[in-house]
Amino acid sequence: MDTATPSRERGVDDLGREPPNGSSDVLIVGAGIVGLAHAYEAVRRGQSVTVVERDHEPVGASVRNFGHCCVTAQHGDLLETAYASRAGWLHAAEATGMWAREAGAYVVARSPVELAVLEELRAERGGDSVRLCTAAQLAEALGGPDPDGRRPAVGGAFLPDDLRVNPRTAAPALAEWLSGQPGVQLHWGTAVTGAESGTVHTTRGTFTAARVLLCVGHDLDRLFPQAAEDHGVERCRLTMARVTAPESLRTEAAVLTGTSMLRYDGFTAQPSATALRTETTEHSPELLDIGANVMCTALPDGTLLVGDSHSYAPTASPFVDEGAAQLLLDATAELLGVDTLRVRERWQGVYASSARGPLLVRDLAPGVRALAVTSGIGMTLSFGLAAATFDGALQPTH
Ligand SMILES: Cc1cc2nc3c(=O)[nH]c(=O)nc-3n(C[C@H](O)[C@H](O)[C@H](O)COP(=O)(O)OP(=O)(O)OC[C@H]3O[C@@H](n4cnc5c(N)ncnc54)[C@H](O)[C@@H]3O)c2cc1C
Repeated sequence: MDTATPSRERGVDDLGREPPNGSSDVLIVGAGIVGLAHAYEAVRRGQSVTVVERDHEPVGASVRNFGHCCVTAQHGDLLETAYASRAGWLHAAEATGMWAREAGAYVVARSPVELAVLEELRAERGGDSVRLCTAAQLAEALGGPDPDGRRPAVGGAFLPDDLRVNPRTAAPALAEWLSGQPGVQLHWGTAVTGAESGTVHTTRGTFTAARVLLCVGHDLDRLFPQAAEDHGVERCRLTMARVTAPESLRTEAAVLTGTSMLRYDGFTAQPSATALRTETTEHSPELLDIGANVMCTALPDGTLLVGDSHSYAPTASPFVDEGAAQLLLDATAELLGVDTLRVRERWQGVYASSARGPLLVRDLAPGVRALAVTSGIGMTLSFGLAAATFDGALQPTH
């Protein structure tokens, strides 16, 4: 031990703990998909990277979601970011062996108004990225026929550019791959307590890096409350379940519904979206009450992820409402033309949300940037945002 070096200079903290690292080009806080996509992109560009994560494996929003890269239904600048992200996901999947499928998404229309939104999106984007399909084509892919008395599909669309990834394994597989790359260090079980230019303070000592990226999702308020408050960041809480897939389901594509069309900007920007909201208010007020986006995605093991509801507050209540959970299961069973779905797991997801915009990009000090996706599309955008960060193309939102 070099007793001549003062402990502060070696980065030893007040309890005498030394950080187990040297300095790196970039230090990323948070091993969710946003942080890990940035780490992946930094490695692609030959930079040394340190990732610091308070937990012992990824357990945040990035493992609790549908694994649906919802590319086609983005809008404006984010549409371009989503397409760049799609390319990034496929590149990373090739390099790391992560499960990713160019499986697309079906959007089921069960009224002429829902179909009108899809026709308008097709007119805007063209038939290559929005392929209208018939009720019979949907029944072939999704199963059915619809039980008596339920709302049958009148048609729909297939969105071939949407991607499927496995949320259970994507972030862990990326972290595992990164840990084997030269110049990369991952520190699990290490909570960051503060950051300033070139320096990050953690529960295991002080780290140094030329550039610091804080990718802590909804927990930004725990580190930099003012930055979170300035962007109006809240916690959005979602109810999810994993069920046994009906045998009649024959697709790896994501399956979306009219309630999904109320939530993604590519759909809500269409002229018939207003009529769709009115219609949904009349037909299914109970779904609007829980902020439902009735959708499902199949995992590689053949089970099905089913959700979700949305409720917003600064602090996420730990309690899952069984009425909302059952409503989502019933709506999905109806969508897939079965009476019931057998639940294997239930959980609650939380992500950062803001009414002020879908991204928070804030420079807190020279070389220290906070970056959070503040709408429910962080899986979709992660690799596109990472490329934009290192291209210098991501402008601060404040
Ligand atoms: C139920 C649900 C369904 C969703 N479905 C989709 C979907 O289909 N498609 C889509 O595009 N998006 C979806 N999303 C949104 C998407 O999951 C998120 O936008 C995305 O995962 C956010 O990634 P992240 O890395 O910012 O956050 P997280 O995955 O939450 O990661 C943040 C990490 O930071 C760590 N951290 C926090 N504070 C500290 C600290 N002080 N020190 C060290 N580490 C810290 C946390 O432990 C965590 O691991 C969904 C979200 C949920 C919850």
